Amino acid sequence: MSDPNELFDITIIGAGPTGLFAAFYAGLREMRCKIIDALDDAGGQLTALYPEKFIYDVPGFPKVQAQDLVKNMVAQANTFPPVFCMGERVQTVERQADGTMLLTTQKGVHRTRTVLIAAGVGAFQSKKLPDPAFIPFEGKGLFYSVKEKSVFRGKNILIVGGGDSAVDWALNLKDYARKVTLIHRRDEFRAHGASVTQLMSSPVEVKLFHELKSVDGNGKIERAVVFDNRTKAETTLPVDAVILTLGFSVDLGPIKNWGLEMVGNRYIRINSKTETSQPGIYAAGDIAAEDGIEPINLIVDGLAAGTRAINFAYQYLHPGSKAFPGHSSEKKL
Ligand SMILES: Cc1cc2nc3c(=O)[nH]c(=O)nc-3n(C[C@H](O)[C@H](O)[C@H](O)COP(=O)(O)OP(=O)(O)OC[C@H]3O[C@@H](n4cnc5c(N)ncnc54)[C@H](O)[C@@H]3O)c2cc1C
Repeated sequence: MSDPNELFDITIIGAGPTGLFAAFYAGLREMRCKIIDALDDAGGQLTALYPEKFIYDVPGFPKVQAQDLVKNMVAQANTFPPVFCMGERVQTVERQADGTMLLTTQKGVHRTRTVLIAAGVGAFQSKKLPDPAFIPFEGKGLFYSVKEKSVFRGKNILIVGGGDSAVDWALNLKDYARKVTLIHRRDEFRAHGASVTQLMSSPVEVKLFHELKSVDGNGKIERAVVFDNRTKAETTLPVDAVILTLGFSVDLGPIKNWGLEMVGNRYIRINSKTETSQPGIYAAGDIAAEDGIEPINLIVDGLAAGTRAINFAYQYLHPGSKAFPGHSSEKKL
């Protein structure tokens, strides 16, 4: 917990890529910056959902693993070290009589002159199977995301799902695992076509029209029962791990109550300066709908919007100044 009395120029809610790059830019503009995130580690979706996946559409990196990009972004943000407050979820944002804002988390309060909300999809949670019989196996062979590939080395793995995560993980793990089986309840995949083509010609065993019925084992998963949803015929598979990629439920949580104009229940409305409906409060990245248009949910888009947010916040704090910060190549860092 940082000094609750210190007044920051800007506080960024969310240490995903948008928040991290914005923190760097705040430093470039010599703004005292704090960054708060509900998760213990920086990186947002990249850290929580796909740390070992490769990203191909970040400028300057033909191919970069999500966790490496995060590592570099944290290092870049630390060029002008912001104060990181991790493991704190912002509950309220209240304007004070003097125009500054007071943020409350479950751990305490934070004072700031401006706010950038870079809260992405909010507090995201993996969708779980409704049957409580799966709960005792969570972390004991039952996974909702893959944080470390090495856990699966030499194992028999069952992957459940038909989206990008399911197919990408099947392809990623096929050379680590002893055997990968993928079940999907339909015969059409939501995953990228090229990945599906690759999957079908890989050693991964694909069972279409199949669903997971149950898992069992002595203290950890040893078997899974799957069934054909057309014939109801059941098959028992010897597996050490089951990866459920059933998507995520999104919960913006308290953000909806901060008095900001929203687009539906999901996005904060911003203008082309990334201003929200409240002066001094900006939003960028996956959470922000510019002119009411849904964001395109790409890292680069959040980086650009976060850069704009910082520079317009600077102008808000220094009326009459230019939003344009000058070129970084002209600065001595
Ligand atoms: C599987 C997958 C693959 C992807 N691949 C690519 C790709 O190849 N290329 C690409 O460009 N994009 C990709 N994306 C999308 C990309 O990850 C997102 O666009 C990006 O993460 C958005 O960044 P953000 O910083 O706006 O939000 P996020 O990454 O969601 O980070 C938001 C942060 O805010 C925090 N937060 C939320 N509410 C609060 C609160 N009240 N208090 C404190 N903290 C809070 C969250 O904990 C989170 O850490 C992918 C996404 C997924 C799921």
